[in-house]
Amino acid sequence: MMESTRQRCALVPICGERTCLPPELAAFATEFAAPGSHGAEVQRYLRCCLQEHDETDHDHYAYVLDLDGPDSGSVWTSWVRGEAPECLVVLQDCPAVSAKEDGRQPCCEFLNHPGQHTWHIDDPRSGGSGDPTAASQR
Ligand SMILES: [Zn+2]
Ligand SMILES: [Zn+2]
Repeated sequence: MMESTRQRCALVPICGERTCLPPELAAFATEFAAPGSHGAEVQRYLRCCLQEHDETDHDHYAYVLDLDGPDSGSVWTSWVRGEAPECLVVLQDCPAVSAKEDGRQPCCEFLNHPGQHTWHIDDPRSGGSGDPTAASQR
């Protein structure tokens, strides 16, 4: 059987490894935000947003906080499975933009990230309002 029509939307699976940001790192993250940018949304429930990967290749990475300004980048953290994140790092945004006809979509990863760009990654949880706290209430 040939399914050549599926080729153009072939996606790679997301890693999706989960962790929680320790309270002290969450507090630390707010110090990165510009003074006065009240209620900067620090992500506490983290999920590795990279393409599915082997932990021996690189750590898991999750976005923690967006910083104001076009070139200021974002705050990220990294961790290995079974351990809590221990540090924060400010990384520049990936400059790639998809050339899709239905709108140009910037990559949501960081500069020089491993794996594919956002729009090549199949994230079953994307597309919603993106509130992880609502989704995790059971
Ligand atoms: Zn990962
Ligand atoms: Zn990218």
